[in-house]
Amino acid sequence: MAYRHPLRHRRHGSFGEGLDLSTVIRTCIGCRERVDKTALVRVVGIGSSSNWVITPDPGGSLPGRGAHLHPTTRCLELAIKRKAFGRALKIEGTIDTILLAEVVRGTNDQKN
Ligand SMILES: [Zn+2]
Repeated sequence: MAYRHPLRHRRHGSFGEGLDLSTVIRTCIGCRERVDKTALVRVVGIGSSSNWVITPDPGGSLPGRGAHLHPTTRCLELAIKRKAFGRALKIEGTIDTILLAEVVRGTNDQKN
């Protein structure tokens, strides 16, 4: 009863076929760097046909198309400059990033 199958305890066995579920790589839409998605914040566009609010989704639970970005002012500005939100989220019109900017500013508190 106390016998445990040794294979059960190998978290990094050879069964993964290179698919390691603990490392998910996403591209930051600001600096285009490919990094572990835990370093990025997921955002979704919430709105209607021409008015969108970029909404941070740190829990990854909001439905819809998401984009990923470093929670830094630099990457936020790069993404805005490149109109990356519209492209990544397939949205057009007014794109409001105030909500996201607040989160980014909060995350960067220690730097300022
Ligand atoms: Zn970035």
